[in-house]
This record gives sequence, C-alpha cells and structure tokens, in this order.
Amino acid sequence: MAMEGLNIAMKEAVEKGIFKGISIPNVGPPLSHLFYADDAIFLGEWSKHNIDNLGRILRCFYVSSGLQVNFKKSKVVGIGVINREVERWAAPLGCEPTSLPFSYLGVLVGANMNLIKNWKPIVDKFKSKLSIWKTKNLSFGGRITLAKVVLGNLPNYYLSIFAAPTVHDVIRKSPTGDTWESDFCKEKYYVAMMRTRIDRSPHLICDGEFPWFKWVPMKVLCFAWRSRLGRILTLLALSRRNVKVDSQWCSACISRLETSDHLLVDCPFADHVWRNLEKWCGIGMINANSVRGIIDEGVRLKMGSNRKKKALFSILYGALWAIWHAMNDRIFNGDIADPIKVVDLIKSMTFLWVKHRYGKCSINWGDWIGSPLNCL
Ligand SMILES: [Zn+2]
Repeated sequence: MAMEGLNIAMKEAVEKGIFKGISIPNVGPPLSHLFYADDAIFLGEWSKHNIDNLGRILRCFYVSSGLQVNFKKSKVVGIGVINREVERWAAPLGCEPTSLPFSYLGVLVGANMNLIKNWKPIVDKFKSKLSIWKTKNLSFGGRITLAKVVLGNLPNYYLSIFAAPTVHDVIRKSPTGDTWESDFCKEKYYVAMMRTRIDRSPHLICDGEFPWFKWVPMKVLCFAWRSRLGRILTLLALSRRNVKVDSQWCSACISRLETSDHLLVDCPFADHVWRNLEKWCGIGMINANSVRGIIDEGVRLKMGSNRKKKALFSILYGALWAIWHAMNDRIFNGDIADPIKVVDLIKSMTFLWVKHRYGKCSINWGDWIGSPLNCL
C-alpha cells in the first residue's frame, strides 16, 4: 500500500517534469522506477536537479507514510560518469557510491553475462540450496518441493533475464547448431538419453531401471521408488532408527519380520492381492518375492506398446500403494481389509489415473475391468 503511494508520487513527478526518467529504445515507455516488495530502484538522467528532487520526493514519502528510506543501505550508480562525480553527488543524499555491476533481486545488473565467471553467484545459489545440512533436515516431500519449486524455478528466473553461455565442458551445440553434444554420450545429446544412462548406471540409488511417467500421481511414484529401495517406514526400519516399537514382526501374519518386501509382496495378504491382479491382467509375471523383483520383471516383460507398459506399471505402483494403505489401516485403525476389496480399489484407482492422465485415452470402465492391458 505504502509503495503504491510512492509509485503515484513518482509518476506525478515525472509528468510535471520534477524528475526525468530514462527512455527505453525503440519507442519504449519512459522508465523512472522499479519496485519489488520493499526493494526499489530509481532510474533517471544524471543531473543535479534529478538527484536533489529524488531526495525531496523520498523525504515527502517519509513524512506522509512514516516509512524512512535507509540511505546508508542505498547506492548511487552513475553510468558513463566518472567515479569522483558519483561520490560527490551521492554524499548529500547520504548514500554509498558504487559502480556497475551491482546486484538487484539476486541478478547482476550491468555485468557481461556472456562470461562464465559472472554466473558464479548463480551457481553458488544453487549449491547453497543443495547444501547437505539443509536437505538432511527436510522430509521426503520437502525435498521434492525443493527440487520442483525452488531448483526448477531458479533457472526459469535467471534464464528469462539472461541467455546462459555455452558450457563447453558439459554440453555444447553440434557444429550444425541444431542438436546438442556432450562428453557424456558419444552420439547426440538428449535429456532422455541422460536419464536412461543414470537409471542404468551401477549406483547405490539407481541400480536398475525404474519407470517414471505421468499417469501415476507423484506421491505414488515416490512411494514405489522408495519401497523398491527398501526405504519405507516399516517396523524394522523404525527400530533401526532407534524408534521404540513393540514388535518387529509383521502384524498381518506374525511370522516374518516387517520389511518392505515382506509387507508389500511376500506377506500372505499381499500375495493374495498380487495373485488376483495377475489373473485380472492376464499375465504370469508376478512371481518375484521382492518389490525390486516385481518392477524388474515388469521392465523385462515385452508388452508390444509403450502405453500398455505404462498401464501395467500404473497397476503395479497402484498395488504397492493400496497394499501399504491396507496394512496401515490394519495397524492404526484395526481395520482388517479383504484382499478382494483392495483389488477392487486398485482397479478403480488405476482406471481413474489412466483415464484422466493419458491424453488420448477413450477407455471405458467395462473394458478396463475386463482386460486392462488390451483395452488401450
Ligand atoms: Zn506378513
């Protein structure tokens, strides 16, 4: 509200010739000030008249709004003006003289952004967001939010202002200029190629392929990914984290330790669900006794088309999700679910995912119930 008052005062000062802004080339609008929250930047012709009047406008703003500008934290920059003159004219205002480049809203103004060294503050910003001590204090959902909202939007912000220079060490344009090359791949560089390479690399986290696609909600995908790594909060995992639990045995069958593989695949309750899904899908692939085994089998299975494969994985991930919730309901609410009802829930849940998330899909409920992999 107060900044709106200052905005009106500046506009009126420009109209009445009290403050002279700058003209943007190619018949652009005159520019005198830019505000963002409590950050302000004033742009005008380099003249004593302009600087004196700006000081008066800011004093009037203080008297009328009670908001005083902290001149000690403000800077005066003269473009094409010798430093001594900037110092002389900044002194009466009580501001610090400075020169280009300077930082405004995290962006270096006046720097040559074609130079890689000028991108260092931006690279440092990414590194600071990824610092280990911060991520350790975030939940899994918080880390996803950090990756999607913060790390995803930072490049949008910076790259909408400056064109990034080509980073020759990592990715470069091909000689023809229509594709990318990288030292990571011998042929043309594609993001999808990089992704496959990471998925298939022998790494602690990425050992084997895990299909990620948009038909399934992100929370379900993340759950399936974590359960494949054995990193869901089962009783055994909790006791290893020094959380006091009454027992580490599976509450459903009380015959095995509650691991993610047992809870989601091996337990008689889960096995019952998987057998029914096997019949429904018309395939005999769910013979594995671990989450990893089931996903690996799914990856190996020849389906004939990509969308059938996605439908299969929607069902596999949906099953993991539904079994986990049924087991939690048993533990926390005492609700002992019927495996057939869980299968019905998986059928309806996956139908809605596929129906609404697969753009070209015109399947109906009857076809899906009949044969989910052949109706697409
Ligand atoms: Zn069990």
